[in-house]
Amino acid sequence: MIPAPFALHRPDTVEQACAALDGHGSDAEVLAGGQSLIADLKLRRKSPRLLVDLSSVAGLDGITVEPGRITIGAMARQAAVVTHPEVSQRLPLLPQVARAAADPMVRTRGTLVGACCQAAAGGDWVAAALALDGTVVIEGGATQRELSLQEFVLGEERTALRPGEIARSLRIPTPGASVVMTYRKVKHVSVGWSVASAAIVLPTRRGEGRARIAVSGAVTHPQRLPELESALADIEPGRSQDIEDAVETALAPLEYRGDYYASAAYRKRRLAVLLRRSITELVTPSSS
Ligand SMILES: Cc1cc2nc3c(=O)[nH]c(=O)nc-3n(C[C@H](O)[C@H](O)[C@H](O)COP(=O)(O)OP(=O)(O)OC[C@H]3O[C@@H](n4cnc5c(N)ncnc54)[C@H](O)[C@@H]3O)c2cc1C
Repeated sequence: MIPAPFALHRPDTVEQACAALDGHGSDAEVLAGGQSLIADLKLRRKSPRLLVDLSSVAGLDGITVEPGRITIGAMARQAAVVTHPEVSQRLPLLPQVARAAADPMVRTRGTLVGACCQAAAGGDWVAAALALDGTVVIEGGATQRELSLQEFVLGEERTALRPGEIARSLRIPTPGASVVMTYRKVKHVSVGWSVASAAIVLPTRRGEGRARIAVSGAVTHPQRLPELESALADIEPGRSQDIEDAVETALAPLEYRGDYYASAAYRKRRLAVLLRRSITELVTPSSS
């Protein structure tokens, strides 16, 4: 299909971008890598009158490594993020996501921040950013604020961004050496989107830090599982039945997505098995 007509604005600074968005409310959209937005325009799921293209804003594609954190700019492409040596060394979850998400063409154009702003129900990048305890730096012209990913993602394709605001960057704290991280995904056989996914970050030694687990694909929107994270702190390594029970308890109250391809009950089952197996493997590496 052909998109509805729109005006295109290509600012040079974030301030100009916010000024261009100002006053247009939900009639304006930010364009980053376009890997979700262009399809939405073509299918007329979205018909904004104004697109504000961030591609000419200097400095937004930076990846900055500081003591204790890595900051990923709004226009840093997914491919650039996962091939950055410090990112792959300190946040090995992200290269794992790249192997599970989309294809090289999409990752060459798509941004990590854009994927968080899209907040797709089956979003892999946003699940990883949630488990990595990321925060989003938001620019609103006169104001700047920073929200945790948990505060930022409100639902499927719903975020806390207000009209006129731009996500400038994603900040991720770099964990100490004593964590293991893994990304696991059950893919839709033909399109590759998530049927059930889990991003898991676990301390290697009990009592040293908290487990962080985020899921997407099976549930209505990407989200952390705080109940399971807390329960894992009290489970002795090797107690696989306790892990299974904790997973079942944490998954029981969640809402699941279902469609012609995979019912809600099927997605829930796949997610439960995925979590149980992954956590068991991570806490007892010798088990299969
Ligand atoms: C064929 C295909 C397969 C894919 N498979 C997967 C997959 O398996 N897993 C997965 O996780 N994703 C997948 N994606 C989505 C892909 O990762 C997108 O790149 C990502 O969802 C959006 O990033 P983008 O930079 O392209 O954002 P855009 O498409 O430009 O924008 C997406 C939305 O976010 C908003 N936005 C973007 N950046 C900002 C910002 N800085 N501030 C404010 N708002 C902003 C836009 O206004 C728009 O509403 C796939 C996409 C395609 C085309």
